[in-house]
Amino acid sequence: MITVVEQRAITEQLLLGALRADDATVAAQEQTRRAGHLATTSRRLSATLDESATHEAVLRITLPGRKAWCMLEVIEPHGALRRFGSIHPDAAKRALAESLARTWRASEWTRQSVGQPGDFAVVTRNSGPALQRVVRDAATLQALDAIGFEWLLVVPLVIRSRFQGTIMFVSGDREPPFAPDEIALAVEISAVCSIALDNACLYAEALALRRAADASNNAKSAFLAKMSHELRTPLNAIGGFVELIELGLYGPVTEDQLKSLARIKTNQMHLLTVINEILDYARIDGGHADFRQEEISLHRTVADVSAMLVGVAAAKDLTIVAAEEGEVLALGDPDRVRQIVVNLLMNAIKYSAAGSGPITIAITIEGEMAVLRVGDHGPGIPAHMVGPIFEPFIQVNEGLADRRGGVGLGLAISRELATAMGGKLTVESTLGVGSTFTLALPLPTTR
Ligand code: ADP
Repeated sequence: MITVVEQRAITEQLLLGALRADDATVAAQEQTRRAGHLATTSRRLSATLDESATHEAVLRITLPGRKAWCMLEVIEPHGALRRFGSIHPDAAKRALAESLARTWRASEWTRQSVGQPGDFAVVTRNSGPALQRVVRDAATLQALDAIGFEWLLVVPLVIRSRFQGTIMFVSGDREPPFAPDEIALAVEISAVCSIALDNACLYAEALALRRAADASNNAKSAFLAKMSHELRTPLNAIGGFVELIELGLYGPVTEDQLKSLARIKTNQMHLLTVINEILDYARIDGGHADFRQEEISLHRTVADVSAMLVGVAAAKDLTIVAAEEGEVLALGDPDRVRQIVVNLLMNAIKYSAAGSGPITIAITIEGEMAVLRVGDHGPGIPAHMVGPIFEPFIQVNEGLADRRGGVGLGLAISRELATAMGGKLTVESTLGVGSTFTLALPLPTTR
C-alpha cells in the first residue's frame, strides 16, 4: 500500500520529469532555430561575390527572435576604416541609424579589447565608462539614445588571423539581455561574415588586376602595332628604291654596286619579315585576329609548303620526306595552318646541320584530332628550354652569331594560332638527336 507521502513524492518526480522534458524540447527547438538562422545567413552571404552586395547582405543580418540591427566597420586592405550605413528594421528610424552608422568608430577599441576570433563584448546603456569606450563621443551616444537602445553586442571581424573590423548589434530597451546562445550565434555569424567579406574583397582585387592586365595588354598591342606600321612604311620605300636603282632607272649600275644593293635588299627583307612577325603576334595576342574555320586537307598543305621549301632544304643538303598515308582533313584557317607548317619546316631546315638526314612529315588521326608531325635530326632542344621556346622572343641560342636570322616569334605565333583554332602545338626533343614538333587540330566532324 502506497502512503500519501510516497504518492506525493512519485507525483513530484513525474512532474519534474515532464518539466525537464519540456525544457529539453524548448532548448532543442531553440538550437534548431539558431542553426537554421545561421544556415540562411550563410546562404545569403555566399549568394554574391560583389563587394557592395556583400556589405548590404552583412547589414541585413538579424538575430532570431530579437529586434536587433547592426552597424559594420571594415578595415580596407590599405588600412583605411570604412563604415557602412545601417539598415534599421523600423523605417522611421532608418535615416537616424544610417547617419549614426556613418560616424560611429569602434574598431580602435574592438581591436584592443575583442580582436581575436570568438571574442565579444556586451555593453549596456548603464555600463558607464565601458559604454563611453565603445561609443566614444557624446553625439554618437545621443544619436543612439534617440534611436533607442539598451544592449550593444560587439563582435570582431577576423579574416585570415587579421583583425579586419567590427560588427555591432544594437538591441532596443524592450529586449531581454543577450543570452549566451545568442552571443555564440552572433560570433558564428561574424565568422561567416568575415569569410564573405574576404571573398568579396579578393574578388574585387582580382577583377581590378584583370582590368589592369587587359588595359596594359591592349596598350602593349596598340604600341606594337603602331610601331610596326611606322617601321614598315619606310622599309617598303627602301626596298622600292633599291629595285629602281637595280633596274638602272637612275643611271648605269656597276657590279660592286649591284652586290651592295643585293645586300641592302636582303637586310631590308629580313627586317620586314621580323616586323611582320611582330605585327602578327601583336594582333593575335591582342585578340584582334580573325580566323576562318574550314575543312583543310593537311596533305595538300604539306605538299604546297614542301614544294616551296624544297630548294632551301636542298641548299643545305637536306630532304623533306612526307609519309604517304590516306587523306586527313582538319578544321582550321587554311592560311594560318599553312603559316604554322612553313614555320615548323623552316625551323627544321634552319636549325639542322647540313646533310643531317631527312626532315620527316607524318599526318595521322589520333582520337578526335588530326595530327601533323615535323621531325628533324637537328641539334635538339635542352629540356629546360622546351617550354620557353614557345614564349615570344625566347631562343635557345641568343648570341647574334647563332640566331640564324629569326627573332624568336615564329613558335609563339604558331602556338597562339594553333590554340585559337582549337588545337595544340607541342614538341618532343632530345639534345643531339633531333626534335619533333606536333601540331594537333580538331577534325571537321568533332565540331
Ligand atoms: P626563331 O626561329 O625566329 O628564333 P622560333 O620561335 O621559331 O623563332 O623558335 C624559337 C627557338 O626555338 C629558336 O630560336 C631555336 O632556338 C628553337 N628551335 C625552334 N625549332 C627548332 C628545331 N627544329 N630544332 C632546334 N631548335 C629549334
